Amino acid sequence: MLVSTDLIDEMIEESGPTMLAEPVTADFVVIANRLPIHHSTLQGSSEWLPSPGGLVTALTSVLQSRNGLWIGWPGVSEDIDAPYTFEGIQLEAVKITREEYEEYYLGFSNATLWPLYHDAIRAPTFHRAWWHAYETINRRFAEAAAKSVSPNGTVWIHDYQLQLVPAMLRVMRPDVRIGFFLHTPFPPSELFSQLPWRREIITGLLGADLIGFQVPHAASNFSRIARRLLGATGTDSILHFDGRVIRVGAFPITVDTKLIQATTADRRVRERAAEIRRDLGNPEVVLLGVDRLDYTKGIQQRLSAVNEMFASGHLVGGTHVVVQVAVPSRESDAHYDLERHNLEQVVSAINGDHGQVGSPVIHYLHQNMPFEELVALYLAADVMLVTPFRDGMNLVAKEYVACRDDLTGKLILSEFAGAAAELRGAFMVNPHDLDGIKESISLALKAAPDEIRARMLRMRRKVFRHDVSDWAQSFLAALGSANTSPAQNEVG
Ligand code: UDP
Repeated sequence: MLVSTDLIDEMIEESGPTMLAEPVTADFVVIANRLPIHHSTLQGSSEWLPSPGGLVTALTSVLQSRNGLWIGWPGVSEDIDAPYTFEGIQLEAVKITREEYEEYYLGFSNATLWPLYHDAIRAPTFHRAWWHAYETINRRFAEAAAKSVSPNGTVWIHDYQLQLVPAMLRVMRPDVRIGFFLHTPFPPSELFSQLPWRREIITGLLGADLIGFQVPHAASNFSRIARRLLGATGTDSILHFDGRVIRVGAFPITVDTKLIQATTADRRVRERAAEIRRDLGNPEVVLLGVDRLDYTKGIQQRLSAVNEMFASGHLVGGTHVVVQVAVPSRESDAHYDLERHNLEQVVSAINGDHGQVGSPVIHYLHQNMPFEELVALYLAADVMLVTPFRDGMNLVAKEYVACRDDLTGKLILSEFAGAAAELRGAFMVNPHDLDGIKESISLALKAAPDEIRARMLRMRRKVFRHDVSDWAQSFLAALGSANTSPAQNEVG
């Protein structure tokens, strides 16, 4: 999620990054691959800016209230120093060399684990050198936490890049309470077992007191594998391993509903939504896709379905217009390069076949959207297409629902997105089934306004029940009440 440049300027002015070095200890530590800031070198100037997104906002506010520390990689080469504080929280940068970045991040994280955890939609690549780099960097993060967390403090570790940290940290600091949350899916045993280092990953995660997943299915995949591979005992939600008790559960992440409400209430955003529709030629129906350009998102498949609908006359150029935002992502990876190339061929073929001078049927944007522009697009869209082959949650689906306060808008949602477990009012699709996608789009277009209102109301009740801060609080409450291990209180 993006915040506007104005907002960023304001935030910087209010509490800009400071570069004062002081040894820090904190009762509460967050560890994530990236720090919540990024280095910008736009227009010749160089500065640190807050990284956008509901997760950063939610964790920053928890850290602010607990005088906490965030440990992460600053996303720049080793010679650039990152700030030590930001927005009232302490930061600790973990340095990663170019070669380590290639092996730990581009390699093991994004070319081994990412495809493996997303149904192996692309074949995962297994390289021993990447694994060794992954171990090295995970140890570096664990060491940074071990020296910074206060006695009996709490450490919350995030995501697939850092799955070895819980066990490493437990050895270094048995007194500490450790939580881990996986933002991606967790695969079933048949897929996970391909990983040559499967035992090490499960052992790494079992170092935590609480392991959180997006959906119950991912939690039970994990618990079953832990029992089968490592002889852990217990149920899907409580495991016993190595003399300790480990709690496992689903904590579905969600969006910043307050920010979304404030943005949709902004008159300029509403006017922009109307302007977008005018710029698109005032079509009857605007269909929208917003995805990171990732092969897991099913963008080409969905556009192929749309193409067939234009070809068969179920969609009509001028009456129906598609906007596809493809946010640039992981551009140094060959899989992503190929995905972009293929997607752009599909888009131009569809426009070539069905567009007219001055009115393409697909408006394709390969760019990052400011958050207000994204919300304006959500408000302008009659049909939202969210069809990933596999997705941990998919926040775009929840953001669309949160924006539709007039109870219009139809969500076409993949049953393989984590969000499908909550957004039962969506038109569900199997993203591999072209005819199924076409049928769902037709159903959504024909549905009576009463049905659409009922569906949207049902989804909005779910989305507005919790926001992302409640999500963070609920994870931390569960971690706080997790059984502490016998080893706790013996400061290592
Ligand atoms: N988003 C963004 N810039 C854009 C378009 C979208 O930052 O140009 C945000 C969007 O608001 C959403 C997030 O990116 O919060 C995408 O999250 P999602 O869970 O849908 O997919 P992910 O990219 O994490 O796989």
